[in-house]
Amino acid sequence: MTIDIDNTLLLLGRGSDPASERGVSCPGELPPASDPALVERARAAKQALGDRLFVLGHHYQRDEVIRFADVTGDSFKLAQEAAARPQAPYIVFCGVHFMAESADILTTGDQQVVLPDLAAGCSMADMATYDQVEECWEVLEDAGIAGDVVPVTYMNSSADIKAFVGRHGGTVCTSSNARRALEWAFARGSKVLFMPDQHLGRNTAVLEMGLTLDDCVVYNPNRPDGGLAPDELRDATMILWRGHCSVHGRFSKASVDEVRSRIPDVNVLVHPECRHEVVRAADHVGSTEYIIRMLDQAPAGSAWAVGTELNLVKRLADRHLDKTITYLDKTVCFCSTMNRIDLPHLVWSLESLVKGEVVNQITVDEETAHYARTALDRMLALP
Ligand code: SF4
Repeated sequence: MTIDIDNTLLLLGRGSDPASERGVSCPGELPPASDPALVERARAAKQALGDRLFVLGHHYQRDEVIRFADVTGDSFKLAQEAAARPQAPYIVFCGVHFMAESADILTTGDQQVVLPDLAAGCSMADMATYDQVEECWEVLEDAGIAGDVVPVTYMNSSADIKAFVGRHGGTVCTSSNARRALEWAFARGSKVLFMPDQHLGRNTAVLEMGLTLDDCVVYNPNRPDGGLAPDELRDATMILWRGHCSVHGRFSKASVDEVRSRIPDVNVLVHPECRHEVVRAADHVGSTEYIIRMLDQAPAGSAWAVGTELNLVKRLADRHLDKTITYLDKTVCFCSTMNRIDLPHLVWSLESLVKGEVVNQITVDEETAHYARTALDRMLALP
């Protein structure tokens, strides 16, 4: 048996894979995780950088990292926050690669965006590569329907996919505005190609737009012609890319049934990246920001089972001790790539900036950034 060493190591964040969100390993010396001075070192580096630094923290980040964020939010809110800080030359993005790319696209040319660990990619974003999307478009052209299709990509996709969508008259969406993005798209074409999260696309189309499951087909980029016959593509209204989130995709209908039998009157609250049968079985569905708002506003004494990333659920449970807040699944699961950003990587990137060395800078080339911005601007202009 031959073992592909490069790809094995890539899973550990080593080597390089330009076609992937995973990036390359960190150069330089990382402080050991056991260093008891890490918190003090991070604090001192932040203080030394002062207003020149702005630290963004995604809701799914570890506690040890999020405490140093100047602002927390979901991917879209963080990109907007980065864009609103033109005076800070250094943006340190505690999140994953596609988010840092969006921040680079939306910030000025004088600002540098740093991702503390380049191995912090996103498995969902990795499920759609530029070449695969181009090939899919050729399949749609061969089926004679490309002119009817408006591409929509979730924020959780690489910059070159966003640029593809920008070039082909489409838009980006988030989990908060997916319905408005689909309405916008269906006003311009009779079909939508939705990438890369099949679940967000299906849940929005069926539960919010009145389409049926039969109106949706799943394009599998790993099969010839996406595994679909031309007639299936011609008959479909929603062409869903076969991608999913490895965290939200874990929740099952059985998890919902189990928690309902265990906790009387529990409210099941899930993210729309969960599978269709899970979202259908839940009481409430919404974006990360929606989940936070719901729990902030929930009455004392109420019980909640939450289907989203564990770091966030734990923090919300700690924040609301007057409510019962539990993780939806019995098997706990962090987002492994979000967790790549730990305190040693944060300290290393901040101390490097203090020394005047910009490490792990995320840059998007000008042409890609231009078309990706076109798609992002269409999203920002959604009613
Ligand atoms: S939670 Fe899912 S979508 Fe978000 S970064 Fe992790 S793998 Fe990607």
